Amino acid sequence: MRETKSAILVTGAAGFIGSHLVDALIEKDFLVIGVDNLITGQLVNIKHLMNSPRFLFIEGRVEDLKFDQLESYKIKAIAHLASPASPVDFERIPEAIISVNTLGTHRLLKIAKEFSSRFLFASTSEVYGDPLVHPQPEGYWGNVNPQGSRSVYDEAKRLGETYVALYHRKYHLDTRIVRIFNTYGPRMRLNDGRVITNFIQAVLRNKPLPIYGDGKQTRSFCYVDDLVKGLIKMLLQDGLDGETINLGNDEEISINELAVTLETILNQKLERRYLPLPHKDDPKRRRPVLTKARKLLHYQPTVELIEGLKRTLRYFEK
Ligand code: UDP
Repeated sequence: MRETKSAILVTGAAGFIGSHLVDALIEKDFLVIGVDNLITGQLVNIKHLMNSPRFLFIEGRVEDLKFDQLESYKIKAIAHLASPASPVDFERIPEAIISVNTLGTHRLLKIAKEFSSRFLFASTSEVYGDPLVHPQPEGYWGNVNPQGSRSVYDEAKRLGETYVALYHRKYHLDTRIVRIFNTYGPRMRLNDGRVITNFIQAVLRNKPLPIYGDGKQTRSFCYVDDLVKGLIKMLLQDGLDGETINLGNDEEISINELAVTLETILNQKLERRYLPLPHKDDPKRRRPVLTKARKLLHYQPTVELIEGLKRTLRYFEK
């Protein structure tokens, strides 16, 4: 009889967060099967793993994943991270975003049921929409405009969560949901349209920093290594069956303050260019309540924004 090897399936393996998660799992000696259709993922993020006996790459859509592609493995756990996640993608590839988070999530849940795998769904702070409760605890149901330009992502993630909760209730699958807040670091796409990469791009090209709206809107930025530590616990720790937990960093700053932080790091004055908000529903404030993460995962982000931005700048300068 053929030996079946235990493996962890990671979707979005060539993406920004997914590729860092794969690295961390391989570091822990797991065998990882990575899935990615490269719609926003980049092969360069996993190039260093291509000859590793601990990594198998399947290029394709999560929605099309077949049992027989996996049958020679025992899939212990699935981490579903595949999804374009930048606001510019909401207009560029909206159908793909809806599909991977709904049909894709359902497809993976069926696979998890077949293998009795643990299931981790990467949800988002966007499920809180433009929040009326601040900071945002997991118990807040959110304020999402179902027809707004961000809804293709927000509502798809919300329906993804609904599928996951259903499989937990109906089939007693060991499911976990993590709501990821703004995360940054090496391996983001420089042209991904988010504020940190747009600012870095502006600095590298000697252009003014693009600030949408009045720049008073806030976010709480988490360095990717901190987030991945939380993800690893969410995935590997026992006793989290059915839990939904926020992950990120709870240091909140405005976009104007982010510009000042960059000036401090570079020790130079940077010009700003104020532009109209591209999304009407752009959340005005966002900061995670991390009480649950601290209590259940002993999660604590440790990389300060200044340090994380320096590391990210160094990556892009290369
Ligand atoms: N933003 C900005 N300049 C940019 C890109 C974004 O001022 O070049 C603003 C955006 O309107 C939002 C915040 O920065 O209020 C964070 O945007 P991002 O796209 O990074 O992530 P979001 O949290 O909106 O998903």
